[in-house]
Amino acid sequence: MGNFKKICVFCGSNSGYRKIFSDAALDLGRELVERKIDLVYGGGSIGLMGLVSQAVYDGGCNVLGIIPRALVSVEISGHAVGEVLIVSDMHERKAEMARRADAFIALPGGYGTMEELLEVITWSQLGIHEKPVGLLNIDGYYDCLLGLFDKGVEEGFIKPSARNIVISATSPKELLEKMEVLG
Ligand code: AMP
Repeated sequence: MGNFKKICVFCGSNSGYRKIFSDAALDLGRELVERKIDLVYGGGSIGLMGLVSQAVYDGGCNVLGIIPRALVSVEISGHAVGEVLIVSDMHERKAEMARRADAFIALPGGYGTMEELLEVITWSQLGIHEKPVGLLNIDGYYDCLLGLFDKGVEEGFIKPSARNIVISATSPKELLEKMEVLG
């Protein structure tokens, strides 16, 4: 049974066009606070990253943003709340985020979010870590990606056991409950 102290959240540096995505980021932040779980994330105050970090910070839990030197300027990433760790590049950032968290959650996002999600899935598949990986499939945003994973199994590119690495749910509460049981 998972008892997480720190969760790393991957999410968009944009907020998406619809309010449902911003609401989900705030809701996830509040659910983490309710469980006294600290946040590790990519730093910055832009997009869904800004919303989830602000919600966790306002709720009194620790927030650690890990940001590559090249993205640190306020014009690019805004003012981060909580503690900020500046690292040399994207690779170091992802390694530090993975090392410092007990589990991962991806909210809706773009290429950056998808890349971060796929990397921790791959590392789990390779046995590099055994930390739970959660996907917040808000309003079906990730239906196509999950469908592609199923296609990978069907066509013999993804082992059925590896398909279970990703724990998906449609709300933060449901996702955290599932991860606590399965993680
Ligand atoms: P995306 O999903 O393409 O918006 O990318 C989101 C992810 O990429 C975040 O989790 C960050 O790690 C990283 N990222 C992209 N843009 C920025 C930025 N301006 N400042 C900080 N991190 C960023």
